[in-house]
Amino acid sequence: MGGKVYSIRPKVVKEIDTPYRRIATKIPAPASIHILEELHRHEPQATTGQPPIVWDHAKGFQVWDAYGNMWLDWSSGVLVANVGHGHPKIVDAIIQQARNQLLHNYCFPSELRAQLARKLVALTPPELDKVFLLTTGSETTECAIKLALTYGRNIGGNKKNGIISYEGAFHGRTLGAQLIGGIPALKEWIGSPMPDFHQLPFPGDFRNPNNKFKDSLALLEKKGIQDGQLAAVIMETYQGGNAAFAPIKYVEELSRWCKKNGILLIFDEVQAGFGRTGKMFGFEHYKVLPDLICLGKAISSSLPLSAVLGRTEIMDQYGPGEMTSTHMGNPICVAAALANLEILEKEKILENVQAVGKVLKEGLKRIRIKYSDFIAAAPCQGLVAGLHVVQAGTIKPFDDLAFSIVGQAFEKGLLMFAPVGRAVVKVAPPLCISEEALLDGIEALDEAINEAISEHQKKCASTRRS
Ligand code: PMP
Repeated sequence: MGGKVYSIRPKVVKEIDTPYRRIATKIPAPASIHILEELHRHEPQATTGQPPIVWDHAKGFQVWDAYGNMWLDWSSGVLVANVGHGHPKIVDAIIQQARNQLLHNYCFPSELRAQLARKLVALTPPELDKVFLLTTGSETTECAIKLALTYGRNIGGNKKNGIISYEGAFHGRTLGAQLIGGIPALKEWIGSPMPDFHQLPFPGDFRNPNNKFKDSLALLEKKGIQDGQLAAVIMETYQGGNAAFAPIKYVEELSRWCKKNGILLIFDEVQAGFGRTGKMFGFEHYKVLPDLICLGKAISSSLPLSAVLGRTEIMDQYGPGEMTSTHMGNPICVAAALANLEILEKEKILENVQAVGKVLKEGLKRIRIKYSDFIAAAPCQGLVAGLHVVQAGTIKPFDDLAFSIVGQAFEKGLLMFAPVGRAVVKVAPPLCISEEALLDGIEALDEAINEAISEHQKKCASTRRS
């Protein structure tokens, strides 16, 4: 178990100076080393693994350290800062709310929470008429599963307690969220997975392109799982680890089958929501109606807040006081979310995603063709994409090369988080990014891949010689 870490020994790198990227020191910046070391000393090593930048401030689609370096951000933190880092209207809303002297009110009513609840319900299909505010994405997936299990038991008795998710799915890092996810490595520490959680191959995986819904049904039958035993299917509207969408036909058939069998369809929109894919929510690409949706991350483009939405019949299964959380709808987070939703609407963020999303798609296609031996696929929708890095001429994931591409890009002032899924370099800039900045980033990425590949080839040649 365990990933890789980038070296924190400062290295001389090429100076970079474009309107969007500036690298003026050794990398990591020598003056930042004591902070990196202190974090290594006092935090679990599991929190390390990202490129070693000590964030000082972030604005729009750029991030600065305190030592003269500036990165073009292709991470949005972790797909949070959709309207841009530190948007002035969000900053003002946070300050204003703090001045209003309401920093916390538990689940006691507040006018702000009523406003946000109304807004979220209005943004989603009319059938989803109730919203429960929480703090993190993992809490929403756990809550949705709990609601589904209760619903299953109410309509089908004790046996209707199976949950289907997809291989490679990520639904969070808390215990329940990891059990419902489909990444075996995340369950190793738990022991064998609980028997009622089942995973199916994800239909949008480029390694398995012919996976149809009837194949999923056949697999369930082979495993001896009957429709009547299932309470819910949970699916990321695009699989975050691979930036891959499921085929529309698959999801339509899945939705029909769920409805026919009283199985709830839960869409985990924690990563896809709020414009990332060019629509407000990822599920809008499929034109089906989910029973529950989970939202988080970019709901405020900043502070921690999340939400589960569903029909009254499902959301009202527990009595008064039986579904609450200490920080549900914290007023400062809610103020930030309300400002964020207004920005999404007024600043035509979705229109920008649709326009510059095409530039990203084209740019990554050029890169995939240029390095086709090592990049097997580059799915892209709106402003989220993933480069699937493989061993030359195969479809076998090549973790070391993916890791080194992110590292090389970092040294060139292009910030992405460490590879995800099966050796995937993930691209997820803030949605306010300009075309010019995006093209500047594509140039940096191209150089980074070129250097990572030639380093790999040099290493191979020297191993052959020795
Ligand atoms: N679901 C999805 C699809 C996610 O991408 C994430 C976070 N990456 C989560 C759930 C968990 O969210 P959090 O880290 O806020 O608990």
